[in-house]
Amino acid sequence: MTETGFSPERIDTSRPHSARMYDWFLDGKDHYPVDAEAAAEVLELFPHVKDTAWANREFMHRAARFVARQGVSQFLDVGTGIPTEPNLHQIVQEVTPSARVVYADNDPIVLRHAEALLHGTPEGRTAYLHVDIREPERIVEYAREHLDLSRPVGLSLIALLPFVTDERNPCGILRTLLEPLAPGSHLMVSHVSAEFDPEVWERIKAVYRSGGTPVQARSHAEVTRFFDGLELYAPGVVAATSWRAEPGMRVREKQPVYVGVARKP
Ligand code: SAH
Repeated sequence: MTETGFSPERIDTSRPHSARMYDWFLDGKDHYPVDAEAAAEVLELFPHVKDTAWANREFMHRAARFVARQGVSQFLDVGTGIPTEPNLHQIVQEVTPSARVVYADNDPIVLRHAEALLHGTPEGRTAYLHVDIREPERIVEYAREHLDLSRPVGLSLIALLPFVTDERNPCGILRTLLEPLAPGSHLMVSHVSAEFDPEVWERIKAVYRSGGTPVQARSHAEVTRFFDGLELYAPGVVAATSWRAEPGMRVREKQPVYVGVARKP
């Protein structure tokens, strides 16, 4: 099943973009000189940033696998990012070949590469929606077309909520996304924290802001609040590298990313 929505926006190569900077951190190829420049500035301020991006990505792998193993076979991944193998559908379709995945992102470059997100198992399905998370109703409507919302869904917001600053009402958006999901649905969140060095974080924030992207770090308590009303799995909200390590997992130094996975009762 292939579906890419529409392509209303041009790719702006005059300003750095979060998805393309993140691609640079992961040693991808889908970024422009402005992105590489801004990302290199962040690397200078915070030399661990590539490891941070990988620790985040590897959490996505473990969390998606974990949720799939709880019997969840439908996923809604908002803030998907530029495809980086393995992508979420590849992880969950390894557990359940018939798993369905709806991807959503607001970056035109992610849309352009969405084709790579749409090749899964023959028995599974994937779809892609070009949308801003500030329109959660549109995301729910699209999910309703492609998933069966009477059965559990794994909602993943991986490294997305830092781009939903408090003025944008992340808790309200989260409520709108979670409310229509069946009991037994799951929420996976990862979020950068400033607790490692608030002063360095201010400077990193300024790099993103100069590209027109407001970004916000959140504390352990603030990240935990996103799981209000849900049942958090052990070990709770912890640093990405400390969440349910798997055998063979690459050992990384602790990184400033809080993560958690919870179940909707
Ligand atoms: N989830 C992936 C990518 C994280 S990078 C991973 O963790 O590996 C953050 C992604 O969020 C980028 O692709 C960016 O385009 C997307 N994003 C940022 N703000 C957004 C918004 N308002 N609506 C939808 N997507 C957004």
